[in-house]
Amino acid sequence: MHCPFCADKETKVIDSRLVAEGNQVRRRRECAQCGERFTTFETAELVLPRVIKSNGSRQPFDEDKLRSGLTRALEKRPVSLEVVESTINRIKHKLRATGEREVKTREVGEVVMEELRDLDEVAYVRFASVYRSFQDVKEFREEIERMDKETRKDS
Ligand SMILES: [Zn+2]
Repeated sequence: MHCPFCADKETKVIDSRLVAEGNQVRRRRECAQCGERFTTFETAELVLPRVIKSNGSRQPFDEDKLRSGLTRALEKRPVSLEVVESTINRIKHKLRATGEREVKTREVGEVVMEELRDLDEVAYVRFASVYRSFQDVKEFREEIERMDKETRKDS
């Protein structure tokens, strides 16, 4: 990488070690041009995007909130905790895979609904009705009818 002092293109690593329990590499570098030394840290970018709420505020992704939302939707449904956890992991993976630093609440909700639709239709409808806060009964019925049609198409 370029030297931050003189912008020379040639810097060499003079020391490299694992830090933060092996989750980070710390490198000492020296500039061949000006002789300055500096340190870089390398971490795998696995951070989840921040969530943009409808009022525009940003919040860190909240896994507990996701878990409680899913648990509520799946209440008394024949879905094991193990499956809930792997669903959470899949949702997180999808959000990371967007490569975005920030995603809208709505986008998170769509990912969750996608997963729930495959997992359990009752949970899906419960979640969607809270999440999309269906404007009226008509809209809600349309969604159910749409799902019905899809199910028939599948079978
Ligand atoms: Zn330099």
